[in-house]
Amino acid sequence: MNSDFSKTFGCKVFNDTVMRQWLPKNIYISLKRSISEGEPLQPHIADVVAEAMKNWASELGATHYTHWFQPMNNITAGKHDSFVTPQGDGTAVVDFSGKELIKGEPDASSFPNGGLRNTFEARGYTAWDCTSPAFVRDHTLYIPTAFCSYTGEALDGKTPLLRSMDAISGQALRILRIFGNTSSKRVIATVGAEQEYFLIDRAQYEKRLDLKITGRTLFGANPSKGQQMDDHYCGRIRLRVADFMRQLDQELWELGVPSKTKHNEVAPAQHELAPVFESANTAIDHNQLTMELMRIVAKRNNLACLLHEKPFESVNGSGKHNNWSLATDDGYNLLDPGKTPYENMQFLVFLSAVIDAVDNYGDLLRMTAASAGNDHRLGANEAPPAIISIFLGEHLTSILEEIATGSEHAENLTRVLETGVATLPRLNRDDSDRNRTSPFAFTGNKFEFRMVGSSASISQTNFVLNAIVADTLSRFADRLQNAADFDNEVRKIVADTMKEHGRIIFNGNNYSDEWVQEAARRGLPNLSNTVDAITALREQKNIDVLVRQNILSESECHSRYEIRLENYSKTIDIEAHTMLEMLHRQILPAIIRFAGDTAASYNNLKTAGFENSAVQHLLWVLSENIIRIQKAATALKKALQEVDCTDILAQAQYYRDQVTNKMAVLRKAVDETEEFVSSDYWPMPTYTDLLHRV
Ligand code: ADP
Ligand code: MG
Repeated sequence: MNSDFSKTFGCKVFNDTVMRQWLPKNIYISLKRSISEGEPLQPHIADVVAEAMKNWASELGATHYTHWFQPMNNITAGKHDSFVTPQGDGTAVVDFSGKELIKGEPDASSFPNGGLRNTFEARGYTAWDCTSPAFVRDHTLYIPTAFCSYTGEALDGKTPLLRSMDAISGQALRILRIFGNTSSKRVIATVGAEQEYFLIDRAQYEKRLDLKITGRTLFGANPSKGQQMDDHYCGRIRLRVADFMRQLDQELWELGVPSKTKHNEVAPAQHELAPVFESANTAIDHNQLTMELMRIVAKRNNLACLLHEKPFESVNGSGKHNNWSLATDDGYNLLDPGKTPYENMQFLVFLSAVIDAVDNYGDLLRMTAASAGNDHRLGANEAPPAIISIFLGEHLTSILEEIATGSEHAENLTRVLETGVATLPRLNRDDSDRNRTSPFAFTGNKFEFRMVGSSASISQTNFVLNAIVADTLSRFADRLQNAADFDNEVRKIVADTMKEHGRIIFNGNNYSDEWVQEAARRGLPNLSNTVDAITALREQKNIDVLVRQNILSESECHSRYEIRLENYSKTIDIEAHTMLEMLHRQILPAIIRFAGDTAASYNNLKTAGFENSAVQHLLWVLSENIIRIQKAATALKKALQEVDCTDILAQAQYYRDQVTNKMAVLRKAVDETEEFVSSDYWPMPTYTDLLHRV
């Protein structure tokens, strides 16, 4: 790392170094305690911190501040206020109070709220989240905040996440204390989110209404070259793309986002960025920033960044691998198999908690990855199926099975664990078995949840993970606290987990048809589409666990259920209308013009004395296809006029069952016609243009 680089990393972040420099020592210590140990913020320090933040930000050119928040629409929001306070004598001072730092009052009714807000009581609150650092961007001080209704209901992704950080810390610490750890003060969920994306030429993008409005192509015949040759994954990065990546890294680093790895992905024009993992809360904020900056930096370079889960049919889509683990504030990864039998026992308890939790609440976890966009991806032999299972690898699975069955080599726990000690070190990431098809894979010292869609906020996934694991840990802690024979109770926890939840472990090929059948035999849910997956938010056991762990109230669960279903319906509705618009205003006129010109050519040839049956055949194909397309369009239009609006679930089901199939029929008709139409007439860039002309 050269010295320039180390100076730029985090240079626009109000981070620990900056705080130390700009805050009086006692204020720094008090704030630090809130940040790292989750202690409530002392009100009197806010004014001092605000003043320091303002002065620091002003030096970086900031004239405004914004309470930056994450409404329930996967993107971020904030209104920008200037630091300027007029003095009444024609002059103004630059001012920023503790009150302004701590609390904002945006109008909540304009954001998705799922019935939690009525316009007549529209006020919402944003509250400073001091655990995620503020930063300066575009002359504005960005203050990460949680967004709640007037009555305190969460309207965002951050509030439940912060609640879940407390829940997991509390329960994990109970386990650690039982194992004799007296020094760790907090347990933190750690997250590293690998982000996939497409990069295409801006000019081509601007010519595609579907990409601009919906983020994906709604029409487009297959290119002659897609990803068949397997020549893109980790291949040479084109100069133009490399340049984009370099600028992106630079901006991310300035904002303290630890972007680490970049490479080409499987599909043409597809790439990936992976950061170094951080506390879940910061990682989520940083992933949001990453997505925003990808779009902005792309635009500046005459490129367009596509974050949609499936921008191109029959080409791999994009996901987000959510790597998740638990760490103590003093640096121990709790999912790292230990070096001593005792550490190993503790590891097995945490591992069992994840297995137990994911089996009990697989449907809830599946829900967190559900979206109209991700429906095109999950289960399509490029992404995990819609069935949740856990990959542990043969080695770790057999250790758990040995403990569970109390098999001969394992008269007592210590012996088994010693066997474990000898062999577990081999479980490092480099040579532990790799399984790329599992939706939830143990990769040596963390779990990798691979279902999340590329455009989604990862907040839901992580607050659900934290909540369900915290809940299981609390049960385990009760058992261990009351156990007469501690070692034996640990063995029983592992044994019970394997007996009751071993069905969730699957080390084979998740893409195979056999697995779908086997999973059904095991009674694992297969929620193949978003609408079914969202209903997990209405299951009483799921509401109960979220309420019990103080993550969401019953009404907050319900509001999310409504928002998600509404979002699904709206997405499909917009896509369908965009299709019809493109069809009537661009595609059909082009086909008709081409057919007309072809007919004229046919007549000319005939006049000149040529009988041309090939041209006649083409005319016949075109006219047949025009009829076919018109029929399909009429059916789609009719379906849209008859949307069942009786209730929000019926509506979403209607879009799923009555609209998406008609969109598919229309698309097929158009795509098959595209192949007959001269490229001089086709009114928009083709798949080849989009995927290969970057
Ligand atoms: P891949 O899954 O493609 O092989 P890597 O193994 O390099 O990728 O890492 C994937 C991601 O996992 C990175 O973002 C990394 O920071 C993250 N990661 C590594 N350790 C942890 C951990 N303990 N907790 C959370 N994320 C982690
Ligand atoms: Mg990965």
